[in-house]
Amino acid sequence: MDSTYQRIQSHLERLNLRRIGEILDSVAEEAAKAEWTYTDFLDRLLCAEAEAKYEKGVAIRIRMARFPFQKTLEQFDFSFQPSIDKRKIDELAKLRFIEDGHNISLLGPPGVGKTHLAVGLGIKAVHAGYRVLFLTIAELITQLSRALMENRLEDKMRALCHPKLLILDEIGYLPLDQQTSHFFFQLISKRYERGSIAITSNKSYGEWGSIFAKDNVIASAILDRLLHHSTTINIKGESYRLKDKRRAGLITLQQEKPELVSAPP
Ligand code: ADP
Ligand code: MG
Repeated sequence: MDSTYQRIQSHLERLNLRRIGEILDSVAEEAAKAEWTYTDFLDRLLCAEAEAKYEKGVAIRIRMARFPFQKTLEQFDFSFQPSIDKRKIDELAKLRFIEDGHNISLLGPPGVGKTHLAVGLGIKAVHAGYRVLFLTIAELITQLSRALMENRLEDKMRALCHPKLLILDEIGYLPLDQQTSHFFFQLISKRYERGSIAITSNKSYGEWGSIFAKDNVIASAILDRLLHHSTTINIKGESYRLKDKRRAGLITLQQEKPELVSAPP
């Protein structure tokens, strides 16, 4: 009996079935007491192992995604932001867009929840088994410039094409020079129809010419590929960050909009 038990444990270890190894004793005891069938017993063990492996995979993919925070779609208060059609987000949350290699753009002023929604969709994707990577444009530029200096731009580009969903946050906060705009175009072209991109931006599409080396030609080439198969969520509303402060009376309308203060009465 002892040697059988030892053999089982060593097989479990070799087959990397650690969770079964951990719960075998207690489940075997429970099975004997409740007179489970052999199949129920095996089912219980395999379910526990599959669950543990799934949870481990999720934890690894969450770490690899490098989200700036972990906020879910369920934590998003849609009543605060009525300009967002919740049905559109619910549809995106089914993740068909990832299967189809389609893109998402979340546009709007600061604080309206663009990053939160992008992360929320990213977390859904991670739970569905997809690899996700979150980068701000500033991080993307730093990584691409370093790769160029170290003569490994091709590898970097390939690595950026690996995740099924690439979230590029904060397009438009920094203007990009000609070289970076060109890299950006290359990246969008490489992923085109192959892997989804979700972008967030404080700029409307009409203003994109001013982001990319003040070059309307490259801006429209980028937009052309990005928007070919894409869902745009245009958020028009006030900043969630200011909500609680305003409620507490810490901010008045004048403070938020200084131009009102200086305007003649
Ligand atoms: P943006 O990227 O548009 O500047 P964020 O997504 O970073 O805004 O949102 C700012 C903060 O407010 C985050 O902590 C986010 O979780 C929170 N937030 C924004 N909108 C909502 C909302 N409608 N419901 C819940 N939290 C929100
Ligand atoms: Mg943001």
